[in-house]
Amino acid sequence: MKATIAYLPGDGIGPEVGGMAMAILDAVAARFGHEFHINECLVGGAAIDATGDPLPPQTRSTCEAADAIFLGAVGGPKWDGDGPRPESGLLALRKLLGLYANIRPVRPHPRAAAASPIKPEILKGVDMVVVRELTGGIYFGKKSRETDSATDVCTYTRTEIERVVRRAGKLAQGRRGKITSVDKANVLETSRLWREVTTRVITEEFPALELEHILVDAAAMYLLSRPAEFDVIVTENMFGDILTDEASMLAGSMGLLPSASLGDGPRGLYEPIHGSAPDIAGKSLANPMASILSGAMLLRLSLGLNTEAEAIENSIDSILSEGYRTDDIASNGERPLTTSQVGDMIAGLVMG
Ligand code: NAD
Repeated sequence: MKATIAYLPGDGIGPEVGGMAMAILDAVAARFGHEFHINECLVGGAAIDATGDPLPPQTRSTCEAADAIFLGAVGGPKWDGDGPRPESGLLALRKLLGLYANIRPVRPHPRAAAASPIKPEILKGVDMVVVRELTGGIYFGKKSRETDSATDVCTYTRTEIERVVRRAGKLAQGRRGKITSVDKANVLETSRLWREVTTRVITEEFPALELEHILVDAAAMYLLSRPAEFDVIVTENMFGDILTDEASMLAGSMGLLPSASLGDGPRGLYEPIHGSAPDIAGKSLANPMASILSGAMLLRLSLGLNTEAEAIENSIDSILSEGYRTDDIASNGERPLTTSQVGDMIAGLVMG
């Protein structure tokens, strides 16, 4: 197969872990006889430094012309002052491509349980996917700032809720058949609409699914006390943002969790859930697995290459099973490997 992939390394550890993911895609292409054209472009702080714009026109057009987009991470203290913010480039890209559903699988590896602060017996059987709404809600609402007050408006439309819940419903059909909708319907009007629409979509269009509604404060607690009971979680933008960072601790590190952002068509944006980690950037400490697993999601969801995606996932499974670790998931006494050592091992296994 021939495919064009836009590669946006971004800032901080973005180029370190993104570079590993691209190397693995090269290994997949070599082993399975595909031709992937990888077009590198600027985004975030790197783009601000070069052009003043966190999402320059050339990056926009390259992404629009690609079959799939891969992003490392954006942001960092260098761009925290006044002026354009790197993160606004990513928000604009999601909006430009109509990517409204962010899919975040959480499946802790049994042999890496020691990396999690949660007791191993609670982690047993945890296998969930969080579907986070990505282009609406408070992050995109009207904002205002006075000297002593500030406002962020949260808005959701029926259509915005329907399409993401439908995505989650389809996903749950192919899994254990349970869907948990997370909201704050006891306080927020947007959440009351969210609950009403979700109930209608699931009961009318997916009657075989088991549907439960949980308030976001309770969901935060259940994610730690009984995470194995979740199958597919669907929630709005900000709640999903916060809950998935919490859920990353089930796996043990942000460096293990991939994500896909999808719209109506096959084109998607793939990125690790973590940020640019300025505290470890340039030190070869970053775990590239979240990034490489995002590459596997790209192959499966945008290019339909299931066997190739499995080859990557199985390689990471065996590396973790054999006890190889980066610094973020190494236990006391374990000698961690560097970012590129882990990436090279995965590439070697993928090549067979
Ligand atoms: P972060 O995710 O960058 O880091 C949080 C913690 O996790 C840090 O201690 C970091 O060292 C660790 N970590 C993250 N990824 C890791 C990896 N692959 N391997 C090992 N350890 C890892 O979050 P932050 O520090 O709150 O944010 C830093 C910057 O990233 C900010 O500018 C923020 O706006 C931005 N950010 C960007 C994205 C994105 O690009 N999608 C997402 C979140 C945050």
